[in-house]
Amino acid sequence: MTDRTEDEVKRAPGRSAFIDGMSASPGVAIGRAFTVDRRRIRTPKYHISAEQAEAEIERLEAAIDMSERQLQDIENRLSRDSDSQEHVLIVRAHRLMLRDEMLVDKARDLIIEEHANAEWALRRTVRRIKKSFDLIRDEYFRERRSDIDFVSDRIIRNLMGHIVDLEEAPPENSIVVAHDLSPADTIMLSRHSILGIVTDVGARTSHSAIVARALEIPAVVGAAGVSEIAGNGDRIIIDGTRGHVVLWPSQREVRTYRAARRRYLAHEEELLAERDLPAKTKDGHRVQLFGNIEFDKELDSVITHGGDGIGLYRTEFLYVGRKDLPTEEEHYEVYRRLLDRADGLPVIIRTFDLGGDKVPIPGRAREPNPAMGLRAVRFSLNRPDIFKTQLRALLRAGVHGDLRIMFPLISGPAELEEVKACLKEASAELAGQDVPHREDVPVGIMVELPSAAVVADRLAASCDFFSIGTNDLIQYALGIDRQNRDVAYLYKPSHLAILRLLKTIAEAGKEAGIPVSICGEMAGDPMNVPLLLAMGLDSFSMNALSIPMVKRIIRAMTLDECRDLLRRAMELSSIDEIEKLVRGEMIARFPEELAG
Ligand code: PEP
Ligand code: MG
Repeated sequence: MTDRTEDEVKRAPGRSAFIDGMSASPGVAIGRAFTVDRRRIRTPKYHISAEQAEAEIERLEAAIDMSERQLQDIENRLSRDSDSQEHVLIVRAHRLMLRDEMLVDKARDLIIEEHANAEWALRRTVRRIKKSFDLIRDEYFRERRSDIDFVSDRIIRNLMGHIVDLEEAPPENSIVVAHDLSPADTIMLSRHSILGIVTDVGARTSHSAIVARALEIPAVVGAAGVSEIAGNGDRIIIDGTRGHVVLWPSQREVRTYRAARRRYLAHEEELLAERDLPAKTKDGHRVQLFGNIEFDKELDSVITHGGDGIGLYRTEFLYVGRKDLPTEEEHYEVYRRLLDRADGLPVIIRTFDLGGDKVPIPGRAREPNPAMGLRAVRFSLNRPDIFKTQLRALLRAGVHGDLRIMFPLISGPAELEEVKACLKEASAELAGQDVPHREDVPVGIMVELPSAAVVADRLAASCDFFSIGTNDLIQYALGIDRQNRDVAYLYKPSHLAILRLLKTIAEAGKEAGIPVSICGEMAGDPMNVPLLLAMGLDSFSMNALSIPMVKRIIRAMTLDECRDLLRRAMELSSIDEIEKLVRGEMIARFPEELAG
């Protein structure tokens, strides 16, 4: 992200402005800025008299009512579209937040006790709530802090009589430019044909980034200052692959980016032309390529990019931004819809990975070491009531397709037996209640703790498949917090210890005759493909957009050459040597695809 502010990036006639941001969705878009005024509004601050307090509270309540009506209206519109059901959940969560005691009661207290005007009282309350979010280390959930901003901004805008929702449809060739986009904005914008999205703030896990990837349009987030300096209708280019934004581009820059866009599209087209071909090495070794998703809608993108199914559906999303817990029916509806959409393709749904550094558990003090605390199946076993709601829904949904259930963060055989016992209980309950469900859903585990890797042979005897979660496995094996930028340079999939762990897991799976997949980010990096193939992994699961390139690499190699590279890599000791060997070989082998 750039440190440049709008003062430094001044608009100068005939000069373009370059802003560096983060890649959120790949591709190049050239168009006109459609500015969405989502700058934080300046909150008026003044004191009211004690007698005015009641009227001020009424004003606050009227604004909340109005906000509720607006969100209800959006929700109603979205409800008609079966593709937007997850979006309905987001908007509904925002609607429920409007009535959150933490927000409303506290603001009311400040009006009475400190004679603060309603806007100021609300803003101060939000600031306090957000402080508690700062402690969350997981990027996805920390980003949900912005949900509180969206909800409170809506109330404040209503208090001040400002325009709240987008009223105007973006014209053709629009690139949406905003400080940040609320889920409601993003969802409404996604119904028009826009060329791309750029925001001042945000991360790869912001709603706007997730939606852009699902729509397959380029997006750049964290382009600080862009919304301050771009005028409506200004010419703008975004390069979502590199995270660049060019405002008021020169003719030469337009030509350069047009060429980059053509190259990107040609390359995409070329890769997509191969999408129906099997992921098979030249010597006939077939693997499967799956997609990792958070929304059921993303399944379409997995299919259009040549995926064979879903290798990881992260269900945490269902719990985010809400005060209550999802009901069995809500779980069931989401899973059934996903399986319907998958139309017979395999779908691996992971039970919730909540707790620890992902979402704080209500009513519990923050743990001193959350990554090693009550997380994933540990939390599931601590709260079997919450766990069983999900398990029942999964078993019920199982009759609608090729469902497989996966448990995260299993540490060893005893824990695996415990979660399996919960699943059995859920199944017995359903049978006792005559509720249709599938009893023989395959059950797998994520191998993402070093302990699980070391006893993989024992675990393999008690489950139907393994999926290696390298994002966590690397964190725990190398002792590197995956969220901590200061030690990010040590986070290396090519560490010999990681390669050895992967090999142990793959061999244990093979020995027991169960399929072994990999679903960490490592799987989507083409450089790792030969090593993973050589280890004998049966499938790779990754973000949809990475599938075509990984497929191309697989189809161009032989298993023998992959094995040779793995053998040579594992004879080396240092990360640098291993990386140098693999990169060198791969770039020499695929100069067009991997160089630069
Ligand atoms: C992993 O740990 O590799 C993984 C895929 O799970 P998550 O990133 O959701 O922890
Ligand atoms: Mg994980």
